[in-house]
Amino acid sequence: MRTNDVPASPASPEDDTPLLRFLRAIPKVEIHCHLLGAVREATFLEWTRRAAAKAGGQPPLSEDEARAFYDRGEKPVGVLKALRSLDAFLITQPDDLHRLVYEYLQDAAAHQVRHAEFFWNPTGTAQESGIAYPRALEAIVRAIHDARTDFGIQGWLIAAIDRQAPPQAALEMAEWVVAHRREEVLGIGIDYNEVDHPPEWFAPAYALARRAGLKTTAHAGEFGMPWTNVKTAVDLLQVDRIDHGYTVTDAPEFAQRCAERGIVFTVVPTNSFYLRTLPKERWALDHPIRRMPGLGLRIHPNTDDPTLHKVTPTGTWQMMVRDFGFSIDDLRGFMMNGLDGAWMDEGQRRQWRQDFGVAFDEARALHRP
Ligand SMILES: [Zn+2]
Repeated sequence: MRTNDVPASPASPEDDTPLLRFLRAIPKVEIHCHLLGAVREATFLEWTRRAAAKAGGQPPLSEDEARAFYDRGEKPVGVLKALRSLDAFLITQPDDLHRLVYEYLQDAAAHQVRHAEFFWNPTGTAQESGIAYPRALEAIVRAIHDARTDFGIQGWLIAAIDRQAPPQAALEMAEWVVAHRREEVLGIGIDYNEVDHPPEWFAPAYALARRAGLKTTAHAGEFGMPWTNVKTAVDLLQVDRIDHGYTVTDAPEFAQRCAERGIVFTVVPTNSFYLRTLPKERWALDHPIRRMPGLGLRIHPNTDDPTLHKVTPTGTWQMMVRDFGFSIDDLRGFMMNGLDGAWMDEGQRRQWRQDFGVAFDEARALHRP
């Protein structure tokens, strides 16, 4: 048994248990993953060396600093600095975005992810990397199709508002999405640091997206921010689902309303805030994820920033059992929550609910977790 606060690497041999074999085998959807948080370490290092060569004597980031981003300690400080480095000087051309998407989808497909909705921040790409939305989108869509052909995984894009940029940039981003409409872009979200950047700032961007028929989600109730941010996302932004949302557990009446509406919460077992702030011996016991289903909330586990969090899709499911004590039957429910929360057409959802259910039961019988 590993300690609770260090996410296991599911690829390590000591973890080759019946549970892991079962969890690897089950088909999955992933609906909360950030493209820049899925960059492979080798790719990150290669781009760090490229940036250093271009900069001459004054590299913007040393190789040691780059490696440190992938060295996740017991009290992780979070990954925002690594993500900002990618926008600021590591991603320099559309082909870099193609590579990121293609590698992420390849890695996800290896864990039986069949449908992946991933976040990407067009504002940072345009303003920091210097790649305008249409060119960036073209490269990403090309990678989505290449991965579909090569790995059989369906990738979809969620254009995410960088909440640390001015609210006007959020509206501008929503206008780009609407003006350059592609079927691969399903909707919009908000991410980055929620502290001092509340959801109500982005109401105009959400209103525009909804009028254009786009789906919406929002990071809210993360970083210990109050449950009222979740309420704002639900009532004012009128989101279709919530990312994180943990502090909803502080407001049982509001949680009940979310439960009655069937809102799906995409949760992240490796979320840095709780690993850092809860005592090591209490981390898994006091984590709000553990309490959410008891309030009737529909949750679904996700990787968020898989390579930087040192976790895989299989690993997130393992943590739900190993760290939070959920049962195999609970997992079956979480799997269905993911399908219901995913932005796919109703015909496919019905078919996949049936197919995933059969595959889950067969894997359970085979591996006896
Ligand atoms: Zn996230």
